[in-house]
Amino acid sequence: MSGKIQMLDLRAQYLSIKEEIDTAMASVVDSCKFINGPQVEQFAKALEEYSGAGHVIPCANGTDALQIALMGLGLEKGDEVIVPAFTYVATAEVIALLGLVPVMADVDPGSFCLRLEDIIPAVTPRTKAIVPVHLFGQCADMEPILEWAAPRGIAVVEDNAQSLGARYSFSDGRIAHAGTMGTIGCISFFPTKPLGCYGDGGALMCNDDELAQRLKMIASHGQRIKYHHEIVGCNSRLDTLQAAVLLAKLPHLDSWNKARAAVAERYRQQLSDIDGIILPAGSAKSTHVYHQYTIRVRDGRRDALKEHLAAAGIASMIYYPLPLQEQKAFAPIARAAGSLGNSARLCAEVLSLPICPELSSEAQDRICEQIRSFFK
Ligand SMILES: *Cc1c(COP(=O)(O)O)cnc(C)c1O
Repeated sequence: MSGKIQMLDLRAQYLSIKEEIDTAMASVVDSCKFINGPQVEQFAKALEEYSGAGHVIPCANGTDALQIALMGLGLEKGDEVIVPAFTYVATAEVIALLGLVPVMADVDPGSFCLRLEDIIPAVTPRTKAIVPVHLFGQCADMEPILEWAAPRGIAVVEDNAQSLGARYSFSDGRIAHAGTMGTIGCISFFPTKPLGCYGDGGALMCNDDELAQRLKMIASHGQRIKYHHEIVGCNSRLDTLQAAVLLAKLPHLDSWNKARAAVAERYRQQLSDIDGIILPAGSAKSTHVYHQYTIRVRDGRRDALKEHLAAAGIASMIYYPLPLQEQKAFAPIARAAGSLGNSARLCAEVLSLPICPELSSEAQDRICEQIRSFFK
């Protein structure tokens, strides 16, 4: 068999729902209501219904969602926000942009996520917020974090760019969607994310009515009534075309997430006996929507495996090659809590394999055979 295998196949997904998407987009173009058309509010309501979030506030992208969330908390310059060192840069970038201090904490090498025990050593009297990232499709262990943060008045902003649709189980049996557990949840609809639009898009989730109003205002130039600006905000809108695409795609999200989990299960069956790699760990508390299927490669052989796969026409990606503490931009701004050794090690070991609902079993067999032959 030949032919290249990509990380994901957006075109195959489009073709599987082509009529719905084409109809939805054509109706927006026909109406010419490109900004704040009815689909924007309809999508917000549909996502509230799907997730159980009290309020969904659409915005322009996931990075903006994080920025608007932090603006909404009313923090002061120099206040500290704890972030995982192993994450996408956007998580820390918005903190720096607002004159706040990103404090980098280490992560659990098994789940790739921030734990309460990683957070504690990073806390100071200036700690005002924590941003756990639900990385690669699975929720961070939220219950201990929320229980610890609540009595201290520390906000918890979930970076849920990668895990929309994942469910977390609390010890009392309550089950909550990723993004709906903390003070605010932030979503990205970048095309490759679990629910991706056809351009940029994002949203905030919030259960507090007053805070939700404030976030909505911030995203809209600080106004509730047009041309009456109560606070300094920004311009961050989900455009109507993107909302229409997302409205058409949302009913499919759970089945796509399930299909990716089935691909992950096949990887587990075919790769679990290979000593040279560590497969992603499941969690007893969170379902996994497998935004990425990320293995760890032992003995410094990650880059060699990546090249071996590339030579066989198989894509793979390194998310992420550098931890925050090694990013030049953050050296003068961020503070590290401890040595952050897990984050540095993960950056040297991780390799994400192709995964998408449409990945054929033939293609997946080919990927697994190539990984097997590399370790022979
Ligand atoms: C994608 C992503 C973002 C940013 O989302 P954009 O829509 O690209 O701005 C933030 N955090 C994480 C963890 C992400 O994966």
